[in-house]
Amino acid sequence: MPANACRIIEYLVIHGQGGHMGNVISPDRGSLPGNADVVVIGAGIVGAASAFFASRAGLKTIVVERREQPGMLATAVSSECVREQWSQPHNIEMMHESLTMLERFADLVGLPGYDISLHQQGYLFLTAQAEQARRFERIVERQHHLGLVQVELLDAAEVRRRFPFVSPRVAVGRFNQRDGWLAVHEMLWGFIKGGQADVYTETTVTAIERDDRGVEAVVTNRGTIKTRRVVIAAGPFAARVAALAGVHVPLMNVRRQEVRLSRHGVCPPDAPMVVDDDTGVYWRPDGPAALLGGGEKDDQPSEPLEYVPTDWDFPAAVLDNAARLCPFWASVAEDLKADEVFINAGQYSFVADRCPIIGPTPVPGLYINAAYDGHGIMGAPAGSRLLVDLITGRVATEDNPFALDRLASGHHLDIEEEVI
Ligand SMILES: Cc1cc2nc3c(=O)[nH]c(=O)nc-3n(C[C@H](O)[C@H](O)[C@H](O)COP(=O)(O)OP(=O)(O)OC[C@H]3O[C@@H](n4cnc5c(N)ncnc54)[C@H](O)[C@@H]3O)c2cc1C
Repeated sequence: MPANACRIIEYLVIHGQGGHMGNVISPDRGSLPGNADVVVIGAGIVGAASAFFASRAGLKTIVVERREQPGMLATAVSSECVREQWSQPHNIEMMHESLTMLERFADLVGLPGYDISLHQQGYLFLTAQAEQARRFERIVERQHHLGLVQVELLDAAEVRRRFPFVSPRVAVGRFNQRDGWLAVHEMLWGFIKGGQADVYTETTVTAIERDDRGVEAVVTNRGTIKTRRVVIAAGPFAARVAALAGVHVPLMNVRRQEVRLSRHGVCPPDAPMVVDDDTGVYWRPDGPAALLGGGEKDDQPSEPLEYVPTDWDFPAAVLDNAARLCPFWASVAEDLKADEVFINAGQYSFVADRCPIIGPTPVPGLYINAAYDGHGIMGAPAGSRLLVDLITGRVATEDNPFALDRLASGHHLDIEEEVI
């Protein structure tokens, strides 16, 4: 069991829940408090999880969110998938820890029976290129070494025996039954209700004030909150918010889209999440219907966007690419109607090594929890646990693999290969 997994047990056992349940407070329902131990900026999944762990650690925490509801930016458009199959050891450990938390989510948040609809139907990575077999082997070996002994390397015959919808073109696959997907909306609200931090909506941070001790206050359109600890969890806007305190974060944002099909029965309902590793296209069952995405060429990084435009050529392209290794998608595409197709677009926010930034910044008291790329849903539980352990000193800064200062020029970076 990776070492971090035992910390989850500590959170379950040590950090009992107090009387207050987190609420969402719009301007007509209450005024902003004048002070807090921790102010979290942004109520996406990362801000909600950060506030949960901070409040459970005994810190008086509030969240400020620009929009009318939590979880309405990148979090709202995710494909809701979770997996521990990664290439970089720190990501494997982080996602393993997250999955363990998600499997025990009701216990973690202290809400008996709370259901995040976790479907562990597995993740199946496929390639049609025989020369990729060695790479697949290397990744699986590393995962085994880090304790994920159940991840399977499958030859072509075994892939097709278990997943008959896969084309004979397949060369090799790897599969982890423990991976899958969940309901992000429920996960987000579980962190809010299970924590003790209120979320103040329609509250935009416009300045971060500093004195000679570091962070002093957060200024918003609804007033100023005195605080010595601020967590930037502003998703695509994280670099812009950090700049308010004079901190540079080398964050890039690119558009990513997903397609949800409303027609029932288009794909096998017991299929795993299937990823064509050669093109990056993925699909999975979505209740009785289906969801597809990926395979987009990186657009030029853009400014963070409040509303990301969709591209109506994308569904045809993604269906075409999905049919490459799973041919049944070609016949689905043939008679699909426009009103059965829904496109969502958002931004992946990432840095050069495609790993998150978690922890302190050069300004004392200013922390960041962002840059989760295509994996902020699955990274949020363990990443936010780590963040709060860094704030409280339970984890030393030198033991943090996701520190901002790793991105300073001249440092060697280990790039995460498994972003899709
Ligand atoms: C198409 C697509 C599919 C994806 N699929 C997956 C997946 O399957 N699994 C997975 O793990 N990840 C996935 N991701 C990535 C995932 O969605 C993100 O990593 C995650 O949602 C980031 O969460 P966040 O809380 O950091 O950001 P956000 O959800 O964007 O939240 C940031 C919040 O900060 C607020 N904010 C910004 N500036 C301010 C300010 N000045 N004052 C107050 N509030 C502010 C915003 O309004 C927003 O609510 C996907 C992303 C996309 C685009």
